[in-house]
Amino acid sequence: TSNVTTTRDSAPLLPNVKNIIAVASGKGGVGKSTVAANLAVSLSKEGAKVGIIDADIYGPSVPTMFNCEHEQPSVKQVNGKNVIVPLEQYGVKLISIGFLTPADNAVIWRGPMASSALKQFIADTDWGELDYLIIDLPPGTSDIHLTLVQTVPVTGAVIVTTPQKVALADAQKGLAMFKQPQINVPVLGIVENMAYFTPEELPNNKYYLFGEGGGLNLSEKFDVPLLGQIPIVQSIRESGDNGYPAVMKEGITQKAFTDLAETLAR
Ligand code: ADP
Repeated sequence: TSNVTTTRDSAPLLPNVKNIIAVASGKGGVGKSTVAANLAVSLSKEGAKVGIIDADIYGPSVPTMFNCEHEQPSVKQVNGKNVIVPLEQYGVKLISIGFLTPADNAVIWRGPMASSALKQFIADTDWGELDYLIIDLPPGTSDIHLTLVQTVPVTGAVIVTTPQKVALADAQKGLAMFKQPQINVPVLGIVENMAYFTPEELPNNKYYLFGEGGGLNLSEKFDVPLLGQIPIVQSIRESGDNGYPAVMKEGITQKAFTDLAETLAR
């Protein structure tokens, strides 16, 4: 947990941010943003100072998940330079690529545009002191991933996947990308989301709707930890849509995410 400096420039970026955690996935829709949002709120509830950058150009969901779809970050001047002031919700500072696009309009992002937005979120945003800055990346491997690793030293990456064959195959590509020598970002581990379903009336039963053991197999194949298994729970979906992360309510989902946050914080 060393302080962050750029690998390229002499001027350090984010000198007061201790850990930059990339949350990535191979496929879309596996729950990457859900994990990023709940992880951020869990870490904050444990007393850490946390920020989140939503860099998912294909489906920025942080504004919805944090119930600030209709808000806009402000801009202030520091030493004659304009800096973005992140919004703050549930103890988490946040900024989203979604704030730059009209909600009801499809904006087609070219790689360089999206990359320059991410750079601004990193370099021209008033993050202050943070223990964790979580980056919700787009699915797959893209310009955004390269920009991130070339702009700041990423402490580590968390790969989110479902146990399904098609998701695992793509997660494997994401994992391999972080491990490439020119990227060289430590993979902190895999989160298997939608791992199983337990009906309320059968609390001791686990139904492996998307298959069993996929996350574990992947973690063994790449020799990285399996950080957690998050069940499919209706309230996780509802709370995401309602802008109130599931981890804020007590119950099994809260435990799944707080366990994950504790494992990562170690
Ligand atoms: P991604 O960021 O990978 O595209 P999202 O986090 O947006 O995926 O999740 C996709 C959808 O699945 C959302 O509607 C979300 O609320 C829902 N979802 C994610 N994880 C779970 C879960 N463990 N149980 C139930 N619904 C989930």
